[in-house]
Amino acid sequence: MKKLFIKTYGCQMNVYDSERMYELLAPHGYKQSDDYSEADVIILNTCHIREKAAEKIYSELGRIVPIKKKLAKKGKKTNIVVAGCVAQAEGSEIINRQPFVDIVVGPQTYHKLPEFLSKIQKSSSKIVDTNFPVENKFDTLEHNRDVANVTSFLSIQEGCDKFCSFCVVPYTRGLEYSRPVIKIIEEAKILLKKGAKEICLLGQNVNAYSFSYNKKDWNLARLLRELAGLEGIKRLRYMTSHPVDMNDDLIKAHGEIPFLMPYLHLPIQSGDDDILKKMNRGYDVKLYLDIISKLKNIRDDIAFSSDFIVGFPGETDKAFNNTLELVKKVNYAQAYSFKYSRRPGTPGSIMKNQINEQIKTERLSILQQLLNKQQIHFNNSFMDNKLEVLAEKKGKKGGQLVGKSPYLQSIYFNNEFNKIGDLVKLKIISTGKNSLEGKLINSSNGEIN
Ligand code: SAM
Ligand code: SF4
Repeated sequence: MKKLFIKTYGCQMNVYDSERMYELLAPHGYKQSDDYSEADVIILNTCHIREKAAEKIYSELGRIVPIKKKLAKKGKKTNIVVAGCVAQAEGSEIINRQPFVDIVVGPQTYHKLPEFLSKIQKSSSKIVDTNFPVENKFDTLEHNRDVANVTSFLSIQEGCDKFCSFCVVPYTRGLEYSRPVIKIIEEAKILLKKGAKEICLLGQNVNAYSFSYNKKDWNLARLLRELAGLEGIKRLRYMTSHPVDMNDDLIKAHGEIPFLMPYLHLPIQSGDDDILKKMNRGYDVKLYLDIISKLKNIRDDIAFSSDFIVGFPGETDKAFNNTLELVKKVNYAQAYSFKYSRRPGTPGSIMKNQINEQIKTERLSILQQLLNKQQIHFNNSFMDNKLEVLAEKKGKKGGQLVGKSPYLQSIYFNNEFNKIGDLVKLKIISTGKNSLEGKLINSSNGEIN
């Protein structure tokens, strides 16, 4: 058995891709290892969304290369692969700067890794493949679905045609592509058979999903209804959604499908219409708030999370205050917020009125204080109330399990009788910003055990 170490950076799409890389290589004699100092193959699956991403990878390579040299002296060969969006953006520059890297492979060609590794192991050559090939990577990957966690990711859509003026994704992941319905359903069935209880559908713009099959047009709502009927499914989620593609059918699905969790990640980025226009987001604050209120009308227990960018070019104090006002109106359960990062090649990077770092830092801190307060308030609102939890793993202490609530809160509880994969009802007995503690409720009398 050869040892394979994969380090994953960035979003859930990369987590999914890393799992698939492992599945691709397992039949070729590779076993996953969590120690790169003893690995035969090291893969860095990289993210390019914000600045310094490439520099981070070069410093990581700076730590790995001496290990490769040391092992080489002992006669052991280690292959280093840089995959993901930094690989796509930097291409052969990676090997120019760090000649100990053997393979550079973009997000659309990693299905060729077994072939590439076997080639370089025979000939000691280097391979750079950052094409967007005609043959589809999913056609290769579908034969290997093997890893299923209680909560499993399933990629249904990739790439993006929206070209927000701050974002590199359309350049690194390519244009929008929706996988065939039948392949998605097959993969979901495999995951459920292997023990998944919750499936999270993934896509850069997951709600732009669109496919024609069986004389029907399939959108995300139809796909969710279909998946909700599969045996063994307990929970469904999807991410990341774009407000423009949040159509009425999908909103309606939230009121119809009990398995669809009442929690939606719906990034707005800014609460100011002028900035949204400059960002090329295609919606205004009113449209966003209308979606939120339609969803609340259809499911009153729904909660929201979002992404925010502060300090986009031209963001005035007034525009930033509009973001704070929007946050107060929506009252988020959780959110991610970032300082605007100038990405070469994107329209935002050459816009006038770039904001200085100090202002960005101050604005980020003000926004995060408000978002943290909302998150704590949201968690506290469950004190002494009931929540259903899907047990995902063992806790730190003996007899303890940790799982996720419908709102993706981490909850730990003591019980030796329940097992990973069980859905249990808990009474919440303590709350914090990042986790909650619960006690099991006796299903026969509703009392806590
Ligand atoms: N497709 C999703 C959407 O439209 O909301 C977002 C996907 S992107 C991978 C994840 C998040 O990274 C974005 O929502 C945005 O907040 C952040 N992001 C992207 N480009 C950025 C940049 N140049 N600077 C700072 N944050 C950025
Ligand atoms: Fe990037 Fe915008 Fe596409 Fe999201 S919708 S991936 S932010 S270009």
